[in-house]
Amino acid sequence: MPSRPYDEDLLRRSFAVAQRSREAGDHPFGAVLADSNGMVLMEQGNGFSAEGHDRTAHAEKLLATRAGKTYALHVLAGATLYTSAEPCAMCAGAIYWAGIGRVVFGQTERGLKAMTGDNPENPTLDLPCEVVFAAGQRPTEVVGPLLEAEATGLQADFWNSRD
Ligand SMILES: [Zn+2]
Repeated sequence: MPSRPYDEDLLRRSFAVAQRSREAGDHPFGAVLADSNGMVLMEQGNGFSAEGHDRTAHAEKLLATRAGKTYALHVLAGATLYTSAEPCAMCAGAIYWAGIGRVVFGQTERGLKAMTGDNPENPTLDLPCEVVFAAGQRPTEVVGPLLEAEATGLQADFWNSRD
């Protein structure tokens, strides 16, 4: 699938959100929602700690829920969700149900799993998001992995100090 001229800038913005999450004591994941022109609509970091150790408080799921309550379906159909790591099956489901039409991700779930292992706070669910989207009834375009080395760096030395 083709990338757009602003994809890397907006993906790096999701990396910055992930870094801020990490610095705030949360897991190093971030997501950004942009409209069809690349204008940023929302940002969301991981909410594991902020939401009282909610293991479902992934950045993309929280963002998809906020987006679905805020924007009309036709707006979200043209929107892109940028995320530092590939959406897991839960988040891909939330993105689908919210009606967000496009996803750009940095690190793959496979690559993330290699870093988190089975850490009880993040036993990575290694399923390509495209598999989830392919089962849906409206199209979701996927671009990624993109800037994977930078995305991977966000996780460095995090999970092995988290037990
Ligand atoms: Zn997730």
